Amino acid sequence: MPYHLFVETVEQVPIAISITDKKANILYVNEEFTRVTGYLPEDILGQNESILSDKRTPRSVYYDLWHTIRSKKVWRGTLCNRHKLGQRYIADLAIAPMLNEDGVITHYIGMHRDVTLTH
Ligand code: FAD
Repeated sequence: MPYHLFVETVEQVPIAISITDKKANILYVNEEFTRVTGYLPEDILGQNESILSDKRTPRSVYYDLWHTIRSKKVWRGTLCNRHKLGQRYIADLAIAPMLNEDGVITHYIGMHRDVTLTH
């Protein structure tokens, strides 16, 4: 498959995708991420994923999230996020660690959907 087709697929896939470093600093977002969160790449690249937090989620949820992904497992859950314009939405989220050939975590990939209307 041509490389540009692979890149276009990730750009246009209908789920909000972000790729971060090991501290959740955002390195890449796709078009659906911008649609769901309101943040353009230039708004959010270099910012931390915590910019999306509505700051009401119990810390135990984030502790579980980080414990899971640092154990090289996929975390799946529902968080309350905040859109750039301020409104809250329910995010159905999966976070997967990306490993190098030595099995060491190098990045994380986040994938989420706004499921506010389905709750
Ligand atoms: P934080 O300062 O992040 O701390 C909360 C707790 O998380 C800490 O007490 C600690 O237990 C743990 N923690 C934080 N950073 C680390 C670390 N580097 N290593 C180990 N433990 C750590 N959050 C959302 O609210 N919405 C999202 O959509 C979302 N998407 C994410 C996508 C990805 C790919 C990743 C990696 C993280 C995502 N997060 C998301 C989590 C986000 O990074 C924050 O941890 C969370 O938003 C809480 O932010 P905070 O500033 O309140 O607390």
